[in-house]
Amino acid sequence: MGLLDGKKGIIFGVANDKSIAWAIARILKKEGMELAFTYAGEALESRVRPLAESLGSRIILPCDVTDDGQIDSVFDAVGREWGSLDGLVHSLAFARKEELKGEYLTTSRDGFRLALDVSAYSLVALARRAAPLMEGRGGGIITLSYYGSEKVIQNYNVMGVAKAALEASAMYLAADLGPKNIRVNTISAGPVKTLAAMGITGFKTILDSVESRSPLRRNITLDDVAGTALYLLSGLSSGVTGEVIHVDAGYSIMGV
Ligand code: NAD
Repeated sequence: MGLLDGKKGIIFGVANDKSIAWAIARILKKEGMELAFTYAGEALESRVRPLAESLGSRIILPCDVTDDGQIDSVFDAVGREWGSLDGLVHSLAFARKEELKGEYLTTSRDGFRLALDVSAYSLVALARRAAPLMEGRGGGIITLSYYGSEKVIQNYNVMGVAKAALEASAMYLAADLGPKNIRVNTISAGPVKTLAAMGITGFKTILDSVESRSPLRRNITLDDVAGTALYLLSGLSSGVTGEVIHVDAGYSIMGV
């Protein structure tokens, strides 16, 4: 028997088999959850569809989170097919490459707006549509953040500001949705080599720093993150909401 038998969940943020969202999807499926997937634009469909089908998914839909029409279509389809929802994984972010190097001071208005829209506001937009389907079921919403929301990480720049907004949004959403028995939590993951991470100038330096300075003296794995996601989306964490859980080999506790 799985921890999530009979449950249904939707995954936002798979780009390929290195995506954090994909590792989370696999463990949720292993524990019995039926899954729906979305992909951000036609170019990604050919990567995401075979992965989703390999987990037996039938609902596989386009969803650029800057497009309210596409978000509505996704939740209409989920409502029609399933009528209810137990889990939502928000594992996506975007900032222009030129905003992920040099000084934060040079961030453009447009680049700021785009990063915050895709990486932070999208959680609100998705949660609002998911809530009627999730109400009263004790399910959960999780999102992915990074330590650059709390401390200055060179080159992370506008994405750090977006992650701070994302974490605060998760907290406010947890307060709004708690009375409906929907929990909202954040995983603050350590650095992992993914497509998104490769866009950050000097990413290797960040990995080296975690390996040498974290209490566990290693970088985290996708499975480390997936295990915590399973905890947060299952009854094991039934009393936990509005939290930020660091899955970072302990890096964030270290001072000098
Ligand atoms: P990834 O590149 O595999 O995933 C990022 C996803 O964001 C992709 O699937 C992409 O399609 C999606 N996306 C971008 N713009 C979008 C849009 N407009 N609409 C819908 N989707 C869009 O990289 P990842 O590292 O798995 O990233 C997943 C999440 O984890 C992100 O929020 C990222 O900031 C966070 N995170 C990553 C790390 C890391 O080091 N990799 C560490 C902490 C947190």
